[in-house]
Amino acid sequence: MITTRLAADLQAAAEQKGCAICKLLERDEQRFFATLLYEQINDLRRRQQLQQSRGFCAAHARSFASVEGAPLGAAIIVRSLLGRLLEQERSLEAAEQPRTWLSDMFKGATVRGVAALLRPQALCPACAHLNEQTRLYLSTLLAHLADRTFAETYTHSDGLCLPHLALALDQSPPAAVARLLLSHQRKVWGHLCDVLDEFTRKHDYRFKHETLTPEEQSIWRRALLLLSGRRTGRDERTE
Ligand SMILES: [Zn+2]
Ligand SMILES: [Zn+2]
Repeated sequence: MITTRLAADLQAAAEQKGCAICKLLERDEQRFFATLLYEQINDLRRRQQLQQSRGFCAAHARSFASVEGAPLGAAIIVRSLLGRLLEQERSLEAAEQPRTWLSDMFKGATVRGVAALLRPQALCPACAHLNEQTRLYLSTLLAHLADRTFAETYTHSDGLCLPHLALALDQSPPAAVARLLLSHQRKVWGHLCDVLDEFTRKHDYRFKHETLTPEEQSIWRRALLLLSGRRTGRDERTE
């Protein structure tokens, strides 16, 4: 029996097309940015995190830029980050100021050393949050696959994307759970191959008069996303 909210969320996500964990992470990413915009713009701790991470990773900067309502919040955040960089630069002109990465460079520190300091000193906060959520979803999934109702829903879903399947197996699940994950995924991949073959066949001029079914029309996108998953800026294992 499904008893936790996370398991219920996972089950509901598995009823849609695509990797259930990716679906939930998409929702979590939107929530993360909404909380940031409406509650954390002036939060000191969040601002320090963003300074350490030198803002967002490339993938999340793009996601953030497309969030409705982002312009003012984004302007305040990047203004703060740029202000910090300029503050450090200005300290070059005053010898009594504490050392900074820019002043170090001008005092003969290696350029590579300065380059290292320009890079993120901490994980992108959005990546860190989503990695934490991923861990929760994976442990919930593995714990609930023994549940008949949950397993039934899972075995009618698209299973997991490649990155999430690999992460699930990294958790060393019981042999029966690992078997279920892999045998179901093999079935999903086999089905995708069959539909992709049909999609390709119907693009042959000899069969062009045959209409594509709704599933065939979008199969290339579904398969593409199911292989790559919803990877964020960082590999979850490197945190
Ligand atoms: Zn996924
Ligand atoms: Zn990120």
